[in-house]
Amino acid sequence: MNLLENERRLPLTTFIAASALLGACSGNAQVDDATSSTAGSGGSGTTTTTTSGGQGAGCPSAHFLDVTKFDGAGSNYPAPELTVTCETDEVIVTSNGIPHYAFVATTPNDLGAQNHEFRFPLTPNYTDLTTEIALLGSVAVAVNGLPIYGPNEGAMPDPFGDPIYNDIMDDCKGHTGPNGDYHYHAALVQCLTQDGQDSQPSPIVGYSFDGFPIYGPYECADADCTSVIELKSSWDKTGDPTTYAWDNHACTKDSCANPSGEYLDQCNGHVGPTGDYHYHATLPKNEATYTGFPYLLGCYHGVATTNGGAAAGAGPAGGGPAGGGGMNPPDCAPGQTMMCCGDGNCNGPETAQNCPADCA
Ligand SMILES: [Zn+2]
Ligand SMILES: [Zn+2]
Repeated sequence: MNLLENERRLPLTTFIAASALLGACSGNAQVDDATSSTAGSGGSGTTTTTTSGGQGAGCPSAHFLDVTKFDGAGSNYPAPELTVTCETDEVIVTSNGIPHYAFVATTPNDLGAQNHEFRFPLTPNYTDLTTEIALLGSVAVAVNGLPIYGPNEGAMPDPFGDPIYNDIMDDCKGHTGPNGDYHYHAALVQCLTQDGQDSQPSPIVGYSFDGFPIYGPYECADADCTSVIELKSSWDKTGDPTTYAWDNHACTKDSCANPSGEYLDQCNGHVGPTGDYHYHATLPKNEATYTGFPYLLGCYHGVATTNGGAAAGAGPAGGGPAGGGGMNPPDCAPGQTMMCCGDGNCNGPETAQNCPADCA
């Protein structure tokens, strides 16, 4: 399991090209099998299975893609594989980490097959106390079986910067880490499902490791669906998130604690018009104070399953708007002047708990 993201930025010319392609996702996603919808695909083929014990009681397998119906990442890569199994109280998703659409490199790392196994509760439990998501590694899984990370990169080269803001994503807001591990930092409905019209309520695009579903950005405004609205993050951009994405966004609106209307809570979730808690994938935007950050999850509002090492380290939130911990910074080594305890700066993963020398 990949713990660290050390993706290097590409040359400027590549950045410009990548930027020009942003927003053109549907043209590149090769989601061309119009006969298959996400609903009801659970029994079709071998990619999605349920055990007899788990069927019926809300097993979400039908919300996952039948990836065998798609062209895959390209002729140089294995075909995508995905299984979804439900046990008594847990959903188990395994995949080989290969996208169901054409791979376009936006980092120096080629795409490589993985042995992903993600587990999350079959029945999520809402908790009043929020929990930080992992600073690095998987925090949720998309409906094509690929991992969803939080809204920051690793320590190099732009420490914990916002990869969406830094334009190092492909048209589907995914890219590869140093182990060839393709992952998302935001999610676009048209890349992950075949139902992507802005005028329609969005389908589920993934599941958080606390078990709550993540929907796309559009939803009925009320139980009668008199209109469809775009849900928005309550976080504001407060600085330059080229580095330290969490420190340069803040959730201070009233809606951070009490979501209302189009504005989600600090975890990017709310209780929707049908009375259930869930998250939304908010659309990335390049506005003065609004970026769509955290794009998927700002924290957990349920009890998350720890998946391997990648999601370990989540602790109780409550550190205020800068959240996003989950990694203990090292003591400063000779010459190290950033992201370590003893540098005199309280940044990134450093908190009063894990780095009192700098943050107390
Ligand atoms: Zn990344
Ligand atoms: Zn909603």
